Amino acid sequence: MLTKEKRLELWHRVFDAIEAYLEDVAGGRVTPELDPKGIRGLLKPFDFEKPIEPLEAVDFVVESLRKYQTHTPHPRYYGLFNPAPTAMGIAADALVAAFNPQLAAWSHSPFAIEVEHHLVRAFGVRFGYSPTQTDGTFASGGAEANHTAVLAALVDAYPEYAQRGVLSLEAQPTLYVSSESHHSLLRAARLCGIGTEAVREVPVDRDLRMIPEELESLIREDRKRGFDPFLVAATAGTTNAGAIDPIDPIAAITAREGLWLHVDAAWGGAVALVPELRSLLQGTERADSITFDAHKWLSVPMAAGLLLTRHRGILDRTFRIENVYMPKEAAGLDVVDPYTRSIQWSRRFIGLKVFLSLAVAGWDGYTKAIRHQTRMGETLREKLGAARWEILNRTPLPLVCFVDGEHAEGRSPGHLDAIVREILSAGKAWISTTRIAGGTPVLRACITNYLTTEADIEALVQDLDWARKRVREL
Ligand SMILES: *Cc1c(COP(=O)(O)O)cnc(C)c1O
Repeated sequence: MLTKEKRLELWHRVFDAIEAYLEDVAGGRVTPELDPKGIRGLLKPFDFEKPIEPLEAVDFVVESLRKYQTHTPHPRYYGLFNPAPTAMGIAADALVAAFNPQLAAWSHSPFAIEVEHHLVRAFGVRFGYSPTQTDGTFASGGAEANHTAVLAALVDAYPEYAQRGVLSLEAQPTLYVSSESHHSLLRAARLCGIGTEAVREVPVDRDLRMIPEELESLIREDRKRGFDPFLVAATAGTTNAGAIDPIDPIAAITAREGLWLHVDAAWGGAVALVPELRSLLQGTERADSITFDAHKWLSVPMAAGLLLTRHRGILDRTFRIENVYMPKEAAGLDVVDPYTRSIQWSRRFIGLKVFLSLAVAGWDGYTKAIRHQTRMGETLREKLGAARWEILNRTPLPLVCFVDGEHAEGRSPGHLDAIVREILSAGKAWISTTRIAGGTPVLRACITNYLTTEADIEALVQDLDWARKRVREL
C-alpha cells in the first residue's frame, strides 16, 4: 500500500507522462526497433525479489513503451483501425480502474450498467433500430461481438442448441460471408463448435462487395446438398479494402430464406453518424444483429466493442445460466444483470470511455471528425494518383489500396514489400501490404487518426516516392 504522499507523486508522474506523450508523439518515429533480445534484457533484472520505487517503475514503463511500440496514436500511422484515443476516453479508463465497478450484476453497478444501456439504445437508433426494440451488450471488441452474433443466431435457429449443443443439429449449419470478410467470423464458427467448414465464402464483385446473386445460389445449392443455412454476415467496411456489402439486397434474401442477418460494421459503421454518408449503410436497420467497435472510428482506447440486436430476449436465451451465488438485491426491479446476457461474467465498465467521449464531443463532434478523415482519404487518393500510384479499390471510406504505377515491377509483391520495409525502418509512417480480390498484392493505407492533416498526407506520398526510388537503387 502506498502512502498518500507517494500516491500523489505517482498520479502526477503518470499524468505528466500521458500529457508529454500526447504532446510529442507526432514529432517522433512511428515504428519501434524490433529487438526481442534487447527487450528481454531490459526485463531480466525484474525478478521481483527486491521492490523498487513507484516512480522508478513508472518511468521504466513509460520509457519502454515510448521506445518499443508502433505508435498507433501518431498522425502518420495509416494502419489497421487503431485510433488516437480521445482525452476523455483516457480519463474514463483511469476512473474505471480506480472505482473498479463490477458490471456482472446490476445491483453492484447500477449507474455504470444504466450508462451502457443508454448507449446501446442510442447507437441502436443511429443504426435505424427503434429504441424500444434495441438491445445489445458491450464487448471487448469486434471479434467478441461477432462471436456473440453467431451464438445468438444458432440459438435462434436451433432452440435446443443452447442445451444440447451440436448434438441437437440434424444437418451441418452453414453461414455466409464475403471472401473479404473478417476472419473473426471463421473463428467464431470454430468457437461455436460448428467448425470453420461451416463458413461459405461468397464471391465479390469488382468493388469487393458480396454478390447477392452468388449468395442466393450458394444457399440454394447448400440446401440441395443437405446443409442447413442459418446466418449471413454482411460486412460494412472490410478490414482490407473498406468495401461495403450491398446490405439491402442481402437483407431481402435473408428475409425470404428465413436466415439471421448480421452486419459486421466494426469500423465502417461510424458513417452512420455522418448525414451525407449514412445511406452507405442502407439496410442495416433490417439486420438481426450488428457489430460496431467504439475503439475504432470512435477513437476510444481499447477495448470497446458493441453487439446490437433488435431481438429482445435472444441474449438472455443464449447466455443465461442459473446460479445461486450472484447478487440478488435487484430482483423485482425492472433491470437486467449483464452476466446473464453476454460472454463475459466479471465485466469492466467498457461504456464509460464512449459515454464521456460522446458527452463532450456530441454527435456533431464525431460527425466532423469522421467527415474530416473521409476527406483526408480523398486527399490521399488524389495525391497518390498525381504521383503515379495506381489505386485498386473503390470505397467512400478513407482506405486506399494501391500499387506503384510508375514502372513494370510496380505490382510485384517483392517490390511492394520492399517499399513498406523502407518506410517502416525509417520510422516515417506505418503502412502495410495486403492482398485483395483473392490474391492481388497491394499497399494499404487507412486514415485512422482524427488529427491526421493534409501535411501528413503530403508527407506520406513523398515518403512513398522516396521509398520506391530507394528500392529501385538497391
Ligand atoms: C477490427 C474488425 C473486427 C475485429 O474486431 P476487434 O475489435 O479487433 O476484435 C471484425 N470485423 C471487422 C470488419 C473489423 O474491422
